[in-house]
Amino acid sequence: MNELLLDSPGEKMLMLGNEAIVRGAIEAGAAVATCYPGTPSSEIGDTFFKIQKESGIYFEYAINEMVALEVAAAAAIAGVRAMCSMKHVGVNVAADFLMSLAYEGVKGGFVLVSADDPSMFSSQNEQDNRMYGKFSGLPVLEPSSIAEAKEMARYAFDLSEMLKEPVILRTTTRINHSTGVISLGPIAGKNSQGSFPKEPLRNTLIPSVSTKLHKLLLANWEKAAGESDQSPYNFVSGEGKLGIITSGVSFNYVSDALQDLALTSRVSVLRIGFSHPLPDRLIKDFIAKCEKILVVEELEPYLEEGVKVKAQEIGSVIPIKGKGDGLFSRAYEFSPSMVRKVIASYFGVTCPTKEAVNIDIPNIPQRPPNLCAGCPHRATYAAMRQACGDEPIYTNDIGCYTLGVLPPLSMSDLSVCMGASIGMGSGMGTATGRKVVSFIGDSTFFHAGIPGLINALHNGHNQTVVIMDNGTTSMTGFQPDPGTAMENMGFNNLSVSIEALVNGIGVKHVTVVKPFKFKKTVEQIKEAIAFPGLSVIISREICPMYEKTFKKQEKRSYFVDHSKCKNHRVCLNTLACPAFYLEGEQVEIDEASCIGCTLCVQVCPENAIRLKKIGE
Ligand code: SF4
Ligand code: SF4
Repeated sequence: MNELLLDSPGEKMLMLGNEAIVRGAIEAGAAVATCYPGTPSSEIGDTFFKIQKESGIYFEYAINEMVALEVAAAAAIAGVRAMCSMKHVGVNVAADFLMSLAYEGVKGGFVLVSADDPSMFSSQNEQDNRMYGKFSGLPVLEPSSIAEAKEMARYAFDLSEMLKEPVILRTTTRINHSTGVISLGPIAGKNSQGSFPKEPLRNTLIPSVSTKLHKLLLANWEKAAGESDQSPYNFVSGEGKLGIITSGVSFNYVSDALQDLALTSRVSVLRIGFSHPLPDRLIKDFIAKCEKILVVEELEPYLEEGVKVKAQEIGSVIPIKGKGDGLFSRAYEFSPSMVRKVIASYFGVTCPTKEAVNIDIPNIPQRPPNLCAGCPHRATYAAMRQACGDEPIYTNDIGCYTLGVLPPLSMSDLSVCMGASIGMGSGMGTATGRKVVSFIGDSTFFHAGIPGLINALHNGHNQTVVIMDNGTTSMTGFQPDPGTAMENMGFNNLSVSIEALVNGIGVKHVTVVKPFKFKKTVEQIKEAIAFPGLSVIISREICPMYEKTFKKQEKRSYFVDHSKCKNHRVCLNTLACPAFYLEGEQVEIDEASCIGCTLCVQVCPENAIRLKKIGE
């Protein structure tokens, strides 16, 4: 049995933050879970995927975040407890449904996990999704530790059922991707059978219905505010007339800093875990007892603004600071030393320089973002470059293939967010009159690219769309998309054919290329580019890193035959494959990295790259 399913209350277990969230959902009796993968949330979905058969929890990787939310929320509307997870930018995709779902409400507990990414370790922006609580009127919970992530995930279902509203569990990368000890709680029995008595004039959000539901949402907000004021997740620790208000992972940095600075007897800390609605009475009482307050929170001044409003309401004029004034920045993740320095300077104490611990770890070499050795996207890009050079404008999308941005591939002139490459390509072509090539991955195409393609077709844009079909969602950890051959993962879901879909909407020029057949691919690309109007190239080759997960691969590696090599570095400069390295001035191939894709063999004009025979 997967240990996450153990029903042994009190037992301690080491877990990743994302696993702890899943465990919280299991303990709460969740029966439905959905997600669209995205770092730092991906392991939530991956964990549900692993345990779905054993646990009886229905799970699906949805085509995009909005659909994930629709599926899970509908189950909750029918009275079944459900969880839906995504990364912060995914909530933008789901936001249209979310804002109205807040009006519709739920019957079974429903938790939306938003995994935010301060410092953008793997994201295109660092938006602060606590704002979605304010925007939608929904409660937000913010854990400070792995143990609390589990507890809050479980509690969020009860809160949701009590308010009959979805609850947002907002985490950050440090919580999602850290490991901590949690104490198992009892597992509640789950109800997998929902019911939905028809009541169209309650559940159809036409204006006359919504006007009533908005009032209900506001009344729920009042109830939620009462809960927030009494919540054990909002508490005061320490003592003294100096105050700190904090939330999330910053609470840990504050606690460490106060110890280090010997300030625990002088500084009171209000930790806010139930952060929307803010606990009104608690904050006002805290302000009234303090002479000076520092607000410590990553990203936006969400708490700070709320606290200042509450201070104004009670006529307090004590200094309340957080962002700005040379204190905390609105950009990037915080660190313990940075928080310690700001606390010391704000409260006028000396900040001892901590002795650096010598842990003898060599500096990690800096390396540019690069596609793996043997990545088929490299082959597609190299073929495109050979066929068209810098002539077209290349719009790109979000996925492994975005790594083709740097020279020598240089295949991304513009990339903004998931699913935007085709639409941007249409606008760019219209504005410049130039040929545009848009790249998009298979998963991203299903996620949000299809409308852009239909739009490009309908409006007659002169564009070539390259769908890079590697059979999986690689960048987030090989989750399946609707085109994935599911039998490799032990399921029999139907795979959706991209070419049938593209042909079905009426695209006139559709080509399927095998990018490792380099010369032929170059020819096919030239033909597609020359087609006047919209053409689609489906470049199909499975991601070798994904293939390794279900198929034993025969090890084949290549080497540079120095008797033929002229050392002009066409191989290196065309492909920038990480399996190449220089030994002195000579190009070599690292046997351990090379997976034998043969692309360099086809690119070398001297036939100097050869298959290594056993014993050679
Ligand atoms: S994981 Fe797969 S798709 Fe992504 S860069 Fe590596 S080989 Fe290419
Ligand atoms: S392209 Fe061929 S000949 Fe030129 S450096 Fe590379 S291996 Fe040597």
